Amino acid sequence: MNDNLMKSEVENEDEGLEELSLRPQILNEYIGQTKVKENMKIYIEAAKKRKVALDHCLFYGPPGLGKTTLSNIIANEMGTNIRVTSGPAIEKAGDLAAILTSLSDGDILFIDEIHRLSKSVEEILYPALEDFSLDIVLGKGPESRSIRIDLPHFTLIGATTRIGSVSTPLRDRFGIIERLELYSEEELATIVKRSSKILKVKLDEESSFEIARRSRGTPRIANRLLKRVSDYALVLGNGSGNLKITKMALDKLEIDELGLDNIDKRILEAIIKKYNGGPVGLETLAATVNEEVETIVDVYEPYLMQIGFLARTARGRTVTMKAYEHLGIDYSTSRLDGQLRF
Ligand code: ADP
Repeated sequence: MNDNLMKSEVENEDEGLEELSLRPQILNEYIGQTKVKENMKIYIEAAKKRKVALDHCLFYGPPGLGKTTLSNIIANEMGTNIRVTSGPAIEKAGDLAAILTSLSDGDILFIDEIHRLSKSVEEILYPALEDFSLDIVLGKGPESRSIRIDLPHFTLIGATTRIGSVSTPLRDRFGIIERLELYSEEELATIVKRSSKILKVKLDEESSFEIARRSRGTPRIANRLLKRVSDYALVLGNGSGNLKITKMALDKLEIDELGLDNIDKRILEAIIKKYNGGPVGLETLAATVNEEVETIVDVYEPYLMQIGFLARTARGRTVTMKAYEHLGIDYSTSRLDGQLRF
């Protein structure tokens, strides 16, 4: 087993031990995502009854929605080991071969950002997923020969924020493909309450909902906001957080009552002020706000579209009336200004 590869991956994780402890360990503790949860319960139960490895799974959706958490839960529920790595960490075909040959029957291999696997690594993966075998070429030139190694019956769980970038041959090899949705306010409030118990901060009902409302449908953000609120609660409220303290903490983070931060606002304002409300092409927009195209598509757009502030059209992104209202920009005069400029 390529221990270094795994170790460095774990160390690279941008989360501390505290974050790990906030992760639910079993399906029943995993809040929301009802459809995915119900499906996975059946698939897990069926695999256990048949005494076979779970079929390969692909989970997709914006970052922070619980793809990694769900994968760890599946390993717990199946009673198997999980190996965690990511697409960019597996640089060479040999890296993947080392991981695959170190697995045992039933083990789960979790590859985060699976859309970033290189072509040569992906090609090794195909026979591994389909026939649980590895084709290795020994030597070079006329002397070379190929040998086939049998692999244990493992389960690959792939996670991606961009299903459209997963190649078709790879996607076709997953028996289970599930999309994770943004969470509702109630679900996020439940997550905040659960996490606040673990972090030992007393939070009233209103405060949990206030954090939930500003978490843009994402548990990772809810937990991050909760941690900042709990700092304020500890210093100003003796460990208890009320609505006043919560609002103060969230306002300091410059997160507005809908969860929008400065970058969201920059995106919306750029479309309104520079492109007359849109449509504007994604590349142009990214250059204007000085952000990566990927960041806009993966992190910002899903929530702005969910709350009806941004629309994707064939000709580019447009801002809706709702966004004008929220930003306090007058629709008719700003459109007129824009037109006069041309
Ligand atoms: P992803 O892999 O999709 O980027 P993670 O699995 O790392 O997201 O989840 C981010 C954090 O959010 C986790 O550390 C966990 O604490 C929390 N979380 C995610 N989904 C849930 C859930 N359904 N219930 C409770 N907490 C969750």
